[in-house]
Amino acid sequence: MTYQYPHHLLKQVFSLIASGWKFARFAAAAMGLLLLSPCAQAENLVSSALKFFLGNDSNTPGFDLDKSRPKPVAQDLKAVILASLPREGLVQKLPEPLRRKLDSLEPVLHVQQRESVYEVRIFETEPKMFAFVGLHARAVLLISDAALSLLTAEELQAAVAHEIGHEYVWAEYLEAAKRQDNQRLKELELYCDGVAILTLRQAGQAPAALLTATKKIANFNRMNTGPAANIERYPSADERRRFALAVVNWADSHGDQSGAGK
Ligand SMILES: [Zn+2]
Repeated sequence: MTYQYPHHLLKQVFSLIASGWKFARFAAAAMGLLLLSPCAQAENLVSSALKFFLGNDSNTPGFDLDKSRPKPVAQDLKAVILASLPREGLVQKLPEPLRRKLDSLEPVLHVQQRESVYEVRIFETEPKMFAFVGLHARAVLLISDAALSLLTAEELQAAVAHEIGHEYVWAEYLEAAKRQDNQRLKELELYCDGVAILTLRQAGQAPAALLTATKKIANFNRMNTGPAANIERYPSADERRRFALAVVNWADSHGDQSGAGK
């Protein structure tokens, strides 16, 4: 699934995913008429996403990264997915510093048991640079050249941890996208942030990089290509910050399985 995804800029290799976003503008226009006041809206979104992620009351055990983890995509299906990816625009050879940055994903993939599941593909964005990190078909991590250069190793880890989160809600996300339910899509994005935070903690990383990664990607793309067409599908920076804080507080107070306090 996607991370501030730009349907109009990606090349053929990303058309499979991109097609899903073409109706986002219409959805955004329709949903814009239904919005409550921004403040109430933010409050509702964060609290409903927290209930969805952690459960309804303090007696429920909350989210468990390991128990909830979906089975990885089957090997034969993965082979089909990989074979269907065009090679145009793919970066074959990376400079050593960028290679090392990619290598830093290993602890995050390891926590989520995805080291031997995902293939990583780096692609060029031109003529305008675009920062993008996404998970294609639960099998391929797609990272643009711009994102790989822009993000620190910690931020890249955080962005990928968020993408892994999409595996937990894959079918629900597709359903919500199909019925153009932007409120639900925002909740699901926050849910993925929650998975990312617990993943990062378990990998020994501070979750703050999740927020800086999101902000850097959004700012970079706004500067280079203008406002995102699908912005109505994403929580605001403030909603993400509030949700993240609540999840970190929950994890600290419940001594989650991830080594609380990191
Ligand atoms: Zn996402």
